[in-house]
Amino acid sequence: MARPIIAIVGRPNVGKSTVFNRMIGDRLAIVEDMPGVTRDRLYGIGEWLNREYSVIDTGGIEIEGENEILRSVRMQAELAIEEADVIVFMADAKAGLTSSDEEIAQILYRSGKPVVLAVNKVDNLKRQDEIFEFYALGFGDPIAISGSHGIGIGDLLEACANHFPEDVEDEYGDEVIKVALIGRPNVGKSSLVNAILGEERVIVSNVAGTTRDAIDTPFEKDDQKYVIIDTAGMRKRGKVYENMEKYSVMRAMKAIERADVILIVINGEEGIIEQDKHIAGYAHEAGKAAVFVVNKWDAVEKDEKTLQHFTQKIRDHFLFMTYAPILFVSAKTTQRLNRLLPLVNQVAEQHAIRIQTHVLNDVISDAVALNSPPTDKGRRMRINYATQVAVRPPAFVLFVNDPELMHFSYERYLENKIRAAFGFEGTPLRIFTRKKSSDE
Ligand code: GDP
Ligand code: GDP
Repeated sequence: MARPIIAIVGRPNVGKSTVFNRMIGDRLAIVEDMPGVTRDRLYGIGEWLNREYSVIDTGGIEIEGENEILRSVRMQAELAIEEADVIVFMADAKAGLTSSDEEIAQILYRSGKPVVLAVNKVDNLKRQDEIFEFYALGFGDPIAISGSHGIGIGDLLEACANHFPEDVEDEYGDEVIKVALIGRPNVGKSSLVNAILGEERVIVSNVAGTTRDAIDTPFEKDDQKYVIIDTAGMRKRGKVYENMEKYSVMRAMKAIERADVILIVINGEEGIIEQDKHIAGYAHEAGKAAVFVVNKWDAVEKDEKTLQHFTQKIRDHFLFMTYAPILFVSAKTTQRLNRLLPLVNQVAEQHAIRIQTHVLNDVISDAVALNSPPTDKGRRMRINYATQVAVRPPAFVLFVNDPELMHFSYERYLENKIRAAFGFEGTPLRIFTRKKSSDE
């Protein structure tokens, strides 16, 4: 199910990144533990009353020149209007209402997008009167918050949740594999799509999906139905900020949310850069199946070691995604493109596997017998029972005597054992540890 996307917009220094961190909450800590995940976060996933959402802080888009603050804030607002489901417009109670706030308000107002007005730095609830002047912005009741004190964040999330799109059922149906190609501009995403659609026996439906302003491409091959989810790079705007990292990440977020299988396209000619990691990291956190597609392989000067070296480079850069298979292709010569859809089918299938409980428990018992669970001050973790609670991505719950005793490294060990037993190629796994209730 697609997570709604919340974008935070506002002048520099109003506290966007502080509040952003509050909105991701404890998820942040979990993710930062993962090796290879960058600390410079552009987006995060949070949860409010059992509904997950994605949040992006649009701040930090820097541009040169006069009036740069105004221009960059305007850019943030435009980006948020295009890609977010709800916009949090943030102002600063200590600074009061400024003309830049009014400028932003105008842009947001015209867009017709849901806007929640948050007035930050109300550190003391007795100072609620500081928010009154912000009624003038025309977005209804301002919500008083304090990012640094963690005040009002629940109210803010509740106000956002009121605007979340309804939990619509999957727009294409379970039997259709939804594929998104993501990657930096010019890696060859559109060329790949054209090459896939031009393959033999591919039947392109002439009814393009047009849900939520997107232009998706449904097609069929060998009796399997697919939809290529519209992504950023394919709608070329030629705007100055098309190349900006945040912009392309945010554009990719929406497509990733709507897809099952993410093809992370890398330019074989150029190698891997930080931006590739941000986009891939989002696919991972969103729990999607993934394949690395190294394109333009025709243009790479090769010897017998090149493929192996490039593979190693991907593994080193994306330590957190060793499960994702890698395919070296050329959209230009169509080299190995015939392997792409079979690989998509394969990871889509793995993403949806359900393991029988007794089989899973046999694997966990064997793993525990081979390598005992962690201890703390003489107490050892005991795993009583394991069960799979979800697919897409596969999620497992381990019922234990004390979840505090679980260790990241032991969780990794169990994950590896589960993968060794069942495969799960191309799919991230989720493992949760819960306390066994006393009556069980
Ligand atoms: P951004 O530029 O909008 O992302 O703002 P930051 O999150 O970087 O915050 C700018 C400054 O405001 C920092 O010095 C923060 O510590 C401070 N700040 C953020 N939230 C609050 C708050 O709720 N109260 C107060 N007093 N200061 C805050
Ligand atoms: P996008 O921005 O990711 O959609 O990239 P495009 O599909 O527009 O491709 C960008 C450029 O790379 C174009 O000039 C393509 O002709 C070129 N290109 C795409 N795929 C390949 C490939 O496999 N080999 C070579 N040599 N060039 C390619």
